[in-house]
Amino acid sequence: MKYGTLLLHNGNEIDPHTGALSIPIYQASTFHQTDIENPGSYDYSRSGNPTRDALEKTLAVIENGTHAYAFASGMAAVSSALAILEQGDHVVVSADIYGGTFRILSRFFSKFGITHTFVDMTRLENVEVAINQNTKVIFLESPSNPMLRITDVVGAVAIAKKHGLITMIDNTFLSPYFQRPLDLGVDLVIHSATKFLGGHSDVIGGAVITKSEQLAAKIYFVQNGFGAILGPQDCWLLMRGIKTLRARMEIQQQSALKIAQWLKGQSWVTDVYYPGLEDHPGHEIIKSQASGFGAVLSFKTDTMERAKTIMKQVKIWSVAVSLGGVESILSYPVKMSHAAIPKPERERLGITENLIRLSVGLEEPDDLMADLEI
Ligand SMILES: *Cc1c(COP(=O)(O)O)cnc(C)c1O
Repeated sequence: MKYGTLLLHNGNEIDPHTGALSIPIYQASTFHQTDIENPGSYDYSRSGNPTRDALEKTLAVIENGTHAYAFASGMAAVSSALAILEQGDHVVVSADIYGGTFRILSRFFSKFGITHTFVDMTRLENVEVAINQNTKVIFLESPSNPMLRITDVVGAVAIAKKHGLITMIDNTFLSPYFQRPLDLGVDLVIHSATKFLGGHSDVIGGAVITKSEQLAAKIYFVQNGFGAILGPQDCWLLMRGIKTLRARMEIQQQSALKIAQWLKGQSWVTDVYYPGLEDHPGHEIIKSQASGFGAVLSFKTDTMERAKTIMKQVKIWSVAVSLGGVESILSYPVKMSHAAIPKPERERLGITENLIRLSVGLEEPDDLMADLEI
């Protein structure tokens, strides 16, 4: 079966009790046990819920894993994955990681004696240098946010294997439609399902997927113990979103490429960051590890004033944090997603006041381009 078909026919699309072409929302916290000697499949919805189960099985299939866990947000998924670590463990992490991941590592996990080193993962020798005897995890994000830097995932996995480390990747930007990191040897895949998986800017959710029994048991322990589970209604919304993942990703990517090429030709644009452009430094690597480039890009304007004017004057683009929805979104990383990162660090990463990030939705690209011209 081809992947586009699998998104709709993965064994979790029909309600086994009624034949309904949509798994019902089991809005229940607890489940009657007819025989206390032989408990049923479900006892309490923090530990397991049929709607969440259907979503988790779907996520496992579409990431080519065996176990998936749905969380209350992408950050709950990131944090729950990192919570499998022990006091004293060390994480090597991409320098231009999602702002929330930066914050939780530097200001939360550090309290429990879990240390980290941020490295520029576009050069794998930096990863080697950062590994010490306490290192347990290499945490990747590729493409990265908001600079769309590409990490050689296969190369990073090889380094991790050599040192006996676990690899985790935030796969939010490409979604499993374009990139399936478990196939590249990564151990844990993490999503903010709020973005492309949900796709409609109407739900906050997250997921962790693996094909390791051992890691799955650890993640389930955190999911059930810490309890940052996704509610049944939100699970249902995600399942609905996933049904159109292929259609959305294909069209949104097509438009993103068109807009990236157009931006490159504008006199008021100094830089365009989109891995689908042939001159992007990670273009060849992403082609070798993913089947597409996604629908997020960023660019720099000639002046900071112009960037601010664009943000103020756009009519079709929404000005918002978040990405991956059917509606196009402009964001200003300095004030939004990356405001938590101290300015000197931000500037070092290239996140300057003339940088704008685009998440391209389903509108006609011609209208989106016209709206950016001021
Ligand atoms: C949005 C996002 C997150 C956090 O997800 P939430 O659902 O907002 O908690 C993590 N990683 C990336 C790459 C994101 O874009």
